[in-house]
Amino acid sequence: MNVALEARHLTKRFGDVVANSGVNMRVERGTVHGLVGENGAGKSTLMNMVFGLYQPDDGEILLDGKTVHFSGPQEAIDMGLGMVHQHFKLVEPFTVLENVILGIEDAPLLGDAVSKARTKLEALEKSYGLEVNMDTPVEDLSVGERQRVEILKALYREAQILILDEPTGVLTPQETESLFEIIAKLRDEGKTILLITHKLGEIMAITNNVSVMRGGKVVAERVTSETSADELAELMVGRAVTKEVGKTVVKASEAILVVDGLCANDDTMHKALKGVSFAVRSGEILGIAGVSGNGQSELVEVITGMRAATAGEVFFDGVLTASSDDFLKADALRALGLGHVAEDRLKFGMVSDMSAAENSILGHQKDARYHKHGLLNPRLITEHCDDLMQKYDVRPPLSQLPVGGFSGGNQQKLAIGREVENNPKLLIVGQPTRGVDIGAIAFIHDRLVALRNAGCAILLVSSELEELMALADRLIVMCDGVVSGEGLPAKLSEKDIGLMMAGHKTPEHSGNVGGRVS
Ligand code: ADP
Ligand code: MG
Repeated sequence: MNVALEARHLTKRFGDVVANSGVNMRVERGTVHGLVGENGAGKSTLMNMVFGLYQPDDGEILLDGKTVHFSGPQEAIDMGLGMVHQHFKLVEPFTVLENVILGIEDAPLLGDAVSKARTKLEALEKSYGLEVNMDTPVEDLSVGERQRVEILKALYREAQILILDEPTGVLTPQETESLFEIIAKLRDEGKTILLITHKLGEIMAITNNVSVMRGGKVVAERVTSETSADELAELMVGRAVTKEVGKTVVKASEAILVVDGLCANDDTMHKALKGVSFAVRSGEILGIAGVSGNGQSELVEVITGMRAATAGEVFFDGVLTASSDDFLKADALRALGLGHVAEDRLKFGMVSDMSAAENSILGHQKDARYHKHGLLNPRLITEHCDDLMQKYDVRPPLSQLPVGGFSGGNQQKLAIGREVENNPKLLIVGQPTRGVDIGAIAFIHDRLVALRNAGCAILLVSSELEELMALADRLIVMCDGVVSGEGLPAKLSEKDIGLMMAGHKTPEHSGNVGGRVS
């Protein structure tokens, strides 16, 4: 085996947290090597050490069999490493060309040097199909294009080993496909690619080998063709994972939520919603697909009484709840039977330094069942929370622990439990499994389906297509503040949805049953 990169016993601590513990990994030259693991498993930490951003507390890194010590990323870059981070590091007002040559010491930004750089960049863009206009300021580029700039930047510096940290999280399926074509091309040329992802389908599709991390350790290494997504899931979680969704046929009835011609601005007073119309019926899950940032968050905020509409109307259970004149606030909506599991749990849904028990009644603290003699009663609240924790498998089951002390998945189970136990007529769920471990995902999906089977309406906003395909009865797709398409998951391919995510119209075969219910 021709080893390009090797980690030996790498260890990294942050205070009490051991982010990497004795990590060993060998990456073969000219291959795509996958690195999978749940959130917090230690993937980014490992790669940041390899790239010279963090100094290991113990262990060593070898390139081509020789031990290297990087005191910073520049030294790693000089040795042929490149990294595209989860959050891009580009200078927004600068053009693509400027960003690419920025930071290269002997490249003064004038005359001859610039035209040489231009020629070199042009050649790179062509040979890898990484096309993006060199003279456009980065701030005017889409997320997918920015990612290309990051890749170009690494290739321009002649990276031989390219690290991509969760590169597809922000891409449409088509953009992902073209990224994978680029990766394959780089590999065919003999470059080595390290692909970090939590999406097992991607690992199976493009990698040659895969390392699985759990709890700061590499727990398994596999040749991709000799493993399966199921085995990898099990290795990531440490136990068997079931993914079945027990959906029964429920006859969807009347519309409980009607959104009609809704417009709203975002925080910077730009138009975020430009005339959105759809309806959700009792007993169905309506999924909203789209790349994050196309109006989904603002839509949810208007429906849940946290943002004003500038035009259009929202009716919930026959009551006008939002128009450009006025809107009902979260409390009033809750009293009408609206449940909400917020996309950003710790910003809207929960208070991190309050106990699980206090959080378990948040928003429902006026409910008589938590009061005795007109006062909130700690014992009643604790009992309620213990009950919830047991029913929703929240671990550890300690009702007095501050919510910030639970993992993302357990916070989410608590948040969903709280909302579901209040028997909502409509539950709005934003990104229910973001930052949630796979073990908890199946549990959360089961709960949502059970709720739907019991006749509740669910509006599910997710950027995970797989999740939407598995759960939604109907789908609408948002792009640039409008509903760009809709249809039935069974009739749509990922590709169809991806095209709609990019603004294309609904294809004929979508099985579209009409989002507007009259
Ligand atoms: P992954 O990329 O697999 O999601 P990370 O490497 O980001 O995981 O994190 C591993 C663990 O180390 C987590 O518990 C995380 O909270 C912790 N961690 C990562 N970076 C830092 C940091 N800069 N300071 C403190 N803790 C950190
Ligand atoms: Mg990470």
